[in-house]
Amino acid sequence: MARPKIIVIGAGICGVSTAIWLQRYGYQVILMDRGEPGMGASYGNAGLIAQWAVVPMTTPTLWRKLPSLLLNSKSSFSLKWGYMPRLVPWLAKFLSHATDAKARQTVSDLMPLLSDAVDQHKALSSGTPVAQWVEDSKISYVYRSQEDFEQDAYSWALRRDVGLVPTILTGTQVAEEEPILGPAMQYMAVLEGQGHILNPGQYVKELCAYFVHEGGKFIQATVQDFKRSNGKIIAIQTDQGDFDCDNAVVTSGIWSKPLMKRLGLSVPLEAERGYHVVYKNASILPKNPMLAAGKFGITPMGNNLRCAGTVELGGIEYGPSRRPVRLIKSFVQDAFPKLEYEGIEEWMGFRPTTTDSLPLIGQIAQSGIYTAFGHQHIGLTSGPKSGRIVANMIDGKVSNNDLSAFDPARFM
Ligand SMILES: Cc1cc2nc3c(=O)[nH]c(=O)nc-3n(C[C@H](O)[C@H](O)[C@H](O)COP(=O)(O)OP(=O)(O)OC[C@H]3O[C@@H](n4cnc5c(N)ncnc54)[C@H](O)[C@@H]3O)c2cc1C
Repeated sequence: MARPKIIVIGAGICGVSTAIWLQRYGYQVILMDRGEPGMGASYGNAGLIAQWAVVPMTTPTLWRKLPSLLLNSKSSFSLKWGYMPRLVPWLAKFLSHATDAKARQTVSDLMPLLSDAVDQHKALSSGTPVAQWVEDSKISYVYRSQEDFEQDAYSWALRRDVGLVPTILTGTQVAEEEPILGPAMQYMAVLEGQGHILNPGQYVKELCAYFVHEGGKFIQATVQDFKRSNGKIIAIQTDQGDFDCDNAVVTSGIWSKPLMKRLGLSVPLEAERGYHVVYKNASILPKNPMLAAGKFGITPMGNNLRCAGTVELGGIEYGPSRRPVRLIKSFVQDAFPKLEYEGIEEWMGFRPTTTDSLPLIGQIAQSGIYTAFGHQHIGLTSGPKSGRIVANMIDGKVSNNDLSAFDPARFM
C-alpha cells in the first residue's frame, strides 16, 4: 500500500526538519515554498543553538524596563508607531504574560523543547554533508559592568533554577576569554554546552538539498488555501494548481497567520522584526558566540562576524528601519575597537511570536493539518525538535513529554 502523502508548507528550519523526519519514517513528502529554501527568518538569524534561551521577553521586570525600552534612543527595542492600532490587541495579551508565575511556566514549557537542541541538530544532520555547519560552543553574555549584569538578575535566577549556572568572569579575565573585546566590557557570564550554526541560510538550503537527494520533492509554489472533505484535508491549493495530500504541515513562520485564517483560526501571531549586520572578512573573530546582553547575538561564521538581534514591533509591511542597524554598529565600534572588515551586509527578518511566547505544535482538531510555527527568538534552536515532534505525531509515536502547552487549539 502506498504510504500517505504529506505536504509541508514552508522551507525554513521548521519545514526542512519536519520534511526530513517524515521522509525517514517512510512517508511520501512534498516540501513547498513560494521562494528558495531558507530565505525567511531562517536565513539571517544569529545562528545560536540557544539551549539557554528559556526565559521569555515577558518577565515581571519588563514593566520596570518598559519606559527606558520605549524612550531611550539606545534601546534595542523599538516600535513602528503607525502600526500601533493593529498591534494593540496582540501587545495587550503579550504583556499580560509579564508576571512571575507566567514567566516560570513558560520556562518550564520551553525546557523540554530546548534542552537537547544541539543533539537534535546533530540527529538531523549527522551522516550527511550538512553536519559540517553544526558547531559545539559556549555562549557568553557580555556586560559593561556588574551593575549591568545585575539588571538581568531575574532572568539569571530563572536560568539557575533550571540548571543553567554561568561562570562569571570580570575585569582582565573578560579579554583573556575573548581577546576581540575592548576595555568597555568588564563583566561576562559564560555558559558551557551550547552550539551554533556556521551559516544558517546555507544550512537550511543544504538540508533541503539532502531531503531531495533522499527522494523528497521540493516544489516552488505559493500555498493559498486548503481543500477539505468532511473536515479532513484532501488537497492544497496553490498558484501552481492543486496538490492532493493525506496530511499537511504548516511551517510558514510569520506567514502561517494568513494560512490559519483560511481555516477560520485567528492566531495571535506578530512579527518581532530583527536585524543583522555581517562584517565580512573580519580581521578578528570571537572564539565562541557572545550576546551583547539583551540586544543581539555576536557569532563567528567562517571569516565573517554576524551581529543579529534587536526587536522592533511593526508588522511585516513596513520596510527596514535605520535605528536598529545603527545601534548594532555603534555597539560593535565600542566593544570591538580593533575590528577591521572588508564589507557589510544588512538584513531584516521576522520572528514569528505568539502572545504566550510558545510555538504551535500539533494537529488542528482532527483535520490532518498540523502546525510547527511561532518559534519567536528560538526557531533555529528548536526547529529540528519541533519538526521531529510533528513527524512523530503523524507517525503515531507517543511522546514522553507533555506537549499540551504547544497545542494549536489553545487560541481557538
Ligand atoms: C535577527 C534575528 C536573529 C535571530 N537569532 C536566532 C538565533 O540565534 N537562534 C534561534 O534559535 N533563533 C533565532 N531567530 C529566530 C529564528 O530565525 C526563527 O524563529 C526561525 O528561523 C523561524 O523558522 P521557520 O521555519 O518557522 O520560518 P521561516 O524561516 O521564516 O520560513 C518560513 C518559510 O515559509 C515560506 N512561506 C510562507 N508563506 C508561504 C506560502 N503561503 N506558501 C509557500 N511558502 C510559504 C517562506 O517563503 C519561508 O521560506 C532570530 C530571528 C531574527 C529575525
